[in-house]
Amino acid sequence: MGTKGREIVGLDVERLIELLNKAYADEWLAYYQYWIGAKVVKGRMKGQVVAELEEHAADELRHAGMVLDRIMQLEGTPLLKPEDWYKVSNCGYDVPEDPHVESILKQNIKGEQCAIDVYNKLLEATKDKDPLTYHMALEILKDEVEHEDDLQALLEDLHERGR
Ligand code: FE
Ligand code: FE
Ligand code: MG
Repeated sequence: MGTKGREIVGLDVERLIELLNKAYADEWLAYYQYWIGAKVVKGRMKGQVVAELEEHAADELRHAGMVLDRIMQLEGTPLLKPEDWYKVSNCGYDVPEDPHVESILKQNIKGEQCAIDVYNKLLEATKDKDPLTYHMALEILKDEVEHEDDLQALLEDLHERGR
């Protein structure tokens, strides 16, 4: 990033890079959570659930790229080792030991609710201080809200049909 581009950021840039790296770790773990979930999931409405999980996996990977681009622009270093993802992540990783549709959906809903908090906090931290990170966080938050909604709708559908 150019000197001026970094200068206009009205908050501690190193601290901001730290927050971004934490979100970066979340995105990779969310990506894998969805990706592996789509492979192992079993049960009713499987086809529909797999399609949604795969779509969300692609979104999380795209988010990781968006966050990385901003880290690089700010002249930060993105996390280089996957082992660091676990260490710094806000939302962690839920091992999908129970492959049943309901349990996979619940794990991912929990992940989305955490992601919504993360980006909402990033919006608060950057409001009126760093319009570019703010804009990025808003774009991602829109997706995370949609993800939660999609998964909850699937879970409701599953319960309806189970009756
Ligand atoms: Fe995401
Ligand atoms: Fe998401
Ligand atoms: Mg969706």
